[in-house]
Amino acid sequence: MSRTIITNARLIGEQSLADLYLKDSLIEGVNLGGEVSHTFDAAGKLVTPAFIDLHTHLREPGQEVKEDLASGLAAAAAGGYGTVVSMANTDPVIDDPGLVTDLLAKAERLGLARLRPAAALSRGLKGAQLTDFAALQAAGAVMLTDDGIPVADGHLLRRACEYAAELGLVIQTHSEEPSLRQDGVMNEGTVSQRLGLPGNPVQAEAVMVYRDCELALMTGARVHIAHVSSRRGLQLIEWFKAQGAPVTAEVTPHHLTLTDETLGAFDPIYKVAPPLRTAEDVAYLRGALARAVVDSIGTDHAPHTRAEKDLDLLQAPSGIANLEVAFPLLYTKLVLDGVLTLTDLLHYFQSGPAKVMGWPAPSLAPGAPADLTVIDLESARPVTPSAFQSKAKFSPWDGWQLQGWPVATFVRGRRVGS
Ligand SMILES: [Zn+2]
Repeated sequence: MSRTIITNARLIGEQSLADLYLKDSLIEGVNLGGEVSHTFDAAGKLVTPAFIDLHTHLREPGQEVKEDLASGLAAAAAGGYGTVVSMANTDPVIDDPGLVTDLLAKAERLGLARLRPAAALSRGLKGAQLTDFAALQAAGAVMLTDDGIPVADGHLLRRACEYAAELGLVIQTHSEEPSLRQDGVMNEGTVSQRLGLPGNPVQAEAVMVYRDCELALMTGARVHIAHVSSRRGLQLIEWFKAQGAPVTAEVTPHHLTLTDETLGAFDPIYKVAPPLRTAEDVAYLRGALARAVVDSIGTDHAPHTRAEKDLDLLQAPSGIANLEVAFPLLYTKLVLDGVLTLTDLLHYFQSGPAKVMGWPAPSLAPGAPADLTVIDLESARPVTPSAFQSKAKFSPWDGWQLQGWPVATFVRGRRVGS
């Protein structure tokens, strides 16, 4: 038996500091006393359930030059995450039950953050033929998504929704209409016109969000709309929710903190799909969090090599690595700036994503999994990408002075990060 005590823990909703006891892989309780094998002094820092990210690109198998399970799950733990859902756009694509089994076995051996793999919705992400959802679910896949590539064929998505609804699986969509998006590399608007760069209009997102919500309403499938970037996209989701559509919405740290003006530097570090939008969109996304129109904050952690990101804007791949800055970034920019309460922000990292998936709400109650993170809400320090666990050691927030850094993460009662 292993028994750990986390002393001087600040717990949400408690006035005085507490000693939290972990027994093996579970929470045992507070202020119990007795013998322990390990002690961690939280020294008045916040102790809260570990975060859940429903949108992480870990790049293994096949793209280990960008990231692998070891670096990605270490980055997750360093960012306060105890569980991540890995995306299926690897090489080979995760469209076969054996690949799901392999990922789970490898993650288990690493013993870092927990891995809950997503599987591809279509074979090879080609958008033509559905994968075997039942077999993928039996192997441990928790979500179906072609994320990275929009599902262009509406009929295929309809059949996917019908199949997923039968199995109780979540479909995650990458909602951008390809024929409207074309080869846009940034938000279409006054900034793209000024810079002379090909634009990707908000309407590409809105049109596909509309279709995806309509199919959720039609089929009863749980459809999670990933990385909603625009006011129009969120307004549609809000409207469909009011009709009873079983849709949920994710927003990302970058769409909440960066605008299309950043592309003025012509630096592909800001290139992401869907693109960074206008200040008005950012304000709308923030307001939607405050009004609880959004269900979860997912990172869309999408690491690439420096060499790929050093290509010109037209050639460079889309994606930002952000597992290790997501919480302090949003604590500083949303909570300290008065947009959201700390409790509300934590919801979008904990019970929000759990609810999207139909998982139990993360908790520090006796008997709950001992997955928790210890957060220093007081000290400010700059983002230092060179110290990232992720292989992508560069960041759009390089040098930003932030508060709210996770200092230790425990998974299954064992310290795994920070
Ligand atoms: Zn993604």
